[in-house]
Amino acid sequence: MASERQISVGGVPVGGGAPVVVQTMTKTETANLEATMAQVRKVAEAGADMVRVAVPRDKDVEALKVIVRDSPIPVIADIHFNHTLALKAIAAGAHCVRLNPGNIGGPDKVAEVAAAATAAGTPMRIGVNSGSLPRHLHELERESPVEALVAAAAEFVELMERLSFQDFKVSIKSTNVPNTIAANRLLAQRIPYPLHLGITEAGTRWTGSLKSAVGLGTLLADGVGDTIRISLSTFHAEEEVKVAWEILKALKLRERGPVLIACPTCGRLQFDMDTVVAEIERRLEAYADPIEVAVLGCAVNGIGEASHADFGITGAKDEGLIFSRGKPLRKVPQDQLVDTLFAEIDKYASSRKVHVDEGSAAEGAAWLARIEEENAGELTPERIAAMEKAAAAQEAEVAPERPRLDEDASPVDGRRFTRA
Ligand code: SF4
Repeated sequence: MASERQISVGGVPVGGGAPVVVQTMTKTETANLEATMAQVRKVAEAGADMVRVAVPRDKDVEALKVIVRDSPIPVIADIHFNHTLALKAIAAGAHCVRLNPGNIGGPDKVAEVAAAATAAGTPMRIGVNSGSLPRHLHELERESPVEALVAAAAEFVELMERLSFQDFKVSIKSTNVPNTIAANRLLAQRIPYPLHLGITEAGTRWTGSLKSAVGLGTLLADGVGDTIRISLSTFHAEEEVKVAWEILKALKLRERGPVLIACPTCGRLQFDMDTVVAEIERRLEAYADPIEVAVLGCAVNGIGEASHADFGITGAKDEGLIFSRGKPLRKVPQDQLVDTLFAEIDKYASSRKVHVDEGSAAEGAAWLARIEEENAGELTPERIAAMEKAAAAQEAEVAPERPRLDEDASPVDGRRFTRA
């Protein structure tokens, strides 16, 4: 369910079915041009479609003029409490202005900004945060934080519509993941404008990434959300961009660069997989093709569930195998696995063909068959999963249909069943 309306931020479409836009925010003092531009370039390289910069002082507006001129991606000015700065940011050429209509000094000031934005053709992001709802919604907030967030956003939307300004996207942000999900679901049903998604103060790289993946991923999987920002407590804004991309790639919403898959490892692992996977992940960052690369900790299961991968390695104590799309390519000594894998990927990148040397492939296949045979009795996680799957399929074939859960039926033993 994409938003009905679409806006354009510096030429990048947001909403209306456009690809979900990745954005981040610089962590530098905006007036420090050298540091800010370095970060803007870094996040653009990492895949940000647009970038937001804080504009809390006049000297930041001065820097903003240069940033807008030199940035490779559209620039959003982040304004709080001061509508004069919003007017100056629009005059400075910002591609979008983010403000909270509730803290900018009243409807007259919002009207002034909307008039300037209309004249300049500058879109806005209007938003509410759970920590700064208008006073008249505080009681509702105590009863239902979700309703209060949605009501605040809806009021701002109505205000902008009364001002005949409709060139905006809307954000509802909360530190609470379930509230963020519920509020955005509700808002998406009520307004036609694009939605900006984020979890406020999500946390560190680890916890923040997880919270964002759960919150934003749930909404995006439902088709709610047109642009995302991952908020992480790190000075490296490009990390936020990488996490955003991983979420979009996991949901198959957008493609960017390779996808790395790796087994979780277990007691059968025979090499230092932590180091190898980290090295492969780092080296893959240099590639633009959306190839899938698999790393298996042992060859006991053969290539198995990684057979769809464009390239992969599977290791053993002294030797390992390079494979492609389910077929062995060559057997190599353990310490050459990573370099040989990248040599194969490079050949593919330059010719768009997987290069197969029949002799090496046959040698690799024989090696793999021997390892599989030697370990045929091993109950690996993959084999256990396959056995469980087969057993479930068999059970489904012979078992009578089970009672199914149904809300409309009578309660039996504290649960609700409908008998077939
Ligand atoms: S058995 Fe599976 S999980 Fe364990 S190391 Fe081998 S491939 Fe990885």
